[in-house]
Amino acid sequence: MAFAGQGGLSLPNRDYYTKTEEKDVKLRDEFVKHVSNMFQLIGETPDQAAKDAQTVLRFQTRLAENSRTPIELRDPTTQYHMMNPAKLQELTPNFSWDDYRRGAGAPATGDINVAHPEFFTAVNKMVTEVPVADWKTYLRWHLITAAAPSLSSKFEIENFNFFGKTLEGRKEQLPRWRRCVSATDASLGEALGQVYVTRAFTPESKARMKTMVNNLISAFRDRLQKLDWMSDESRKQAIAKLDAFGQKIGYPDKWIDYSTLNVSRDSYLANVLRSSEFEQTRDFNKINKPVDRKEWGMTPPTVNAGYNPLNNDISFPAGILQAPFFNPDADDAINYGAIGAVIGHEITHGYDDSGSEFDAQGNLKNWWTETDKKNFDERAECVINQFSGFEAEPGLHLQGKLVSGESIADLGGLYVAYDAFMKSLQGKPRPAAIDGFTPEQRFFLGWAQVWAEKDTPEAARLQVQSDPHPLSRFRVNGPLSNMPKFAEAFQCKAGTPMVREDATRCQIW
Ligand SMILES: [Zn+2]
Repeated sequence: MAFAGQGGLSLPNRDYYTKTEEKDVKLRDEFVKHVSNMFQLIGETPDQAAKDAQTVLRFQTRLAENSRTPIELRDPTTQYHMMNPAKLQELTPNFSWDDYRRGAGAPATGDINVAHPEFFTAVNKMVTEVPVADWKTYLRWHLITAAAPSLSSKFEIENFNFFGKTLEGRKEQLPRWRRCVSATDASLGEALGQVYVTRAFTPESKARMKTMVNNLISAFRDRLQKLDWMSDESRKQAIAKLDAFGQKIGYPDKWIDYSTLNVSRDSYLANVLRSSEFEQTRDFNKINKPVDRKEWGMTPPTVNAGYNPLNNDISFPAGILQAPFFNPDADDAINYGAIGAVIGHEITHGYDDSGSEFDAQGNLKNWWTETDKKNFDERAECVINQFSGFEAEPGLHLQGKLVSGESIADLGGLYVAYDAFMKSLQGKPRPAAIDGFTPEQRFFLGWAQVWAEKDTPEAARLQVQSDPHPLSRFRVNGPLSNMPKFAEAFQCKAGTPMVREDATRCQIW
């Protein structure tokens, strides 16, 4: 089905427009300077460009004031408002959806989910209250900023100066070849993916991964069966959901057909534009058709994994099957702590505070008894409080409610991966120590190696303010401090920082 949601901002989210602390104001000043520089690059005078940049900020601030926060955007239950075409048109009398649809080349949508109705009510007002000249300036800005990475160096550098340097604290651009690979992956991901998997993803890797996923699912089922805070009624539903999990491993069975996409040597920008048109047409063609559950949301070379609540499936693109996530040369302990816990993490997403709102078929439907839901919410609250207590830098706390889904998934993923690892050892001689580390210690080292990284302070700030994933060091120290098995493995004593007392220890799945 078609859906419509809030948008139109250039800074990461609404908070960047509405917060009034000194550093927020300073960042907005930098943004206005950047917008002005870009307008000058397309030939405006400095005076005109400065004026237009202010218009863009004013316009986007009004959109921001009517947009939801990243925390609010994690709640699927408040983003489902089906409307028929007449009702939709009633919502925005000043804006013709039919004209828009025809202009965009979209098919008739039938009923549509308007995820954020209040946003469209606000935009409807802006259609008559904001002068046409300001609308033109705002739309011109979107055209330039979207095209900038594909234009000549002056545009690309100015774009990087703000979004790379100022916002993320990056010192320099990635080398050209890496940007070219990323651009190819973004535009022709499944064509690139076919080459990638023939070179970098063996049938043995796929088979080993399939076995791991099935081991993790089976360990998760065992935990569900033993869970003491859940009634048999909800437990039955939870297990039915697990049994219905789809699996996507490595690459899709059916590749996207790019034969209608024209790639030519005369203009890079034109190639990029044709590619986004191709993708948009592909999206439009799905409206009101049966869901293709075999379709992939990530390209094969992507180093990532995912759970899609709408399909109730987990995906592991070929790209994640390399160190430190999956190391064919390492022993099982390291790999269970790394890719094993990542698999467990994705499974647990089906049961986090957001994913658990969807049923086995991927419908937004409550399958919990009231008491069990209350029990779950109390346990989720423990994770939320714990993460709100972490500071990225003095005074900058993580947003527990923003990162709760990922943190619940990390915690559950580690517990289930640990179980699966222990199960894999049954009936075998105990593995020897390696470099002085026991198998249990190596399991936890595997997890820590996955998240070892270095951030600039700017990138850390950006992540805390906009990303549902907690900073990596807390993805390690957070969940592990809740696990008695970790304390046991490293002989940490009660009262030390990585050992929580029972009263503050979180455990859900
Ligand atoms: Zn996740």
